[in-house]
Amino acid sequence: MARLHRVLNNDDIFPEYRGTPVEKLLEYHNLNRKHDIFDKAQLLIGMCIDNRENLHIPDNFAFVIRTAGANLQNSEFNVSFAITFGQLNYLALIAHNDCAMAHLSSHKDIFIKGITEKAGWKRDKAEKYFMNSVPKFEIGNEVDFLLNETNRLRLKYPKITIAPLLHSVNDGKLYLINEN
Ligand SMILES: [Zn+2]
Repeated sequence: MARLHRVLNNDDIFPEYRGTPVEKLLEYHNLNRKHDIFDKAQLLIGMCIDNRENLHIPDNFAFVIRTAGANLQNSEFNVSFAITFGQLNYLALIAHNDCAMAHLSSHKDIFIKGITEKAGWKRDKAEKYFMNSVPKFEIGNEVDFLLNETNRLRLKYPKITIAPLLHSVNDGKLYLINEN
């Protein structure tokens, strides 16, 4: 996809992120930078709950909020608390390709079956719950959602530098996004 920007070496990192924890995140995860020692968190990371989402980062480097689809719309107190408690100035918002939340409505059957059989819900309650939740949680195209969410959060937290990134479940790398 044209909007994805590969990070294969330091020169690929956008100038606005140089010298910031976002640059370090890209170096640790993509460029095998040796892990530094941190006694305090450097940034907040928002990412999906998916089990394929794993970051190569040092201990103590980041606060991490994980939500389905890296959707922070229902987690704003968590965001606010993390940036104030952690005294953080940077947020890396990490979407990924092949996210189940992109086409959530197509996963209705698996949801209903799972929550009735495994969790013991009644079928009609499960159906209503799912149908009410889809509009709140379905993200559509991952990159479009990521950019919308980034812009929404930039308005809400104007002094925080927010970097949208995409994690590829194919090659395991983080990609910057060409935002124009
Ligand atoms: Zn996901």
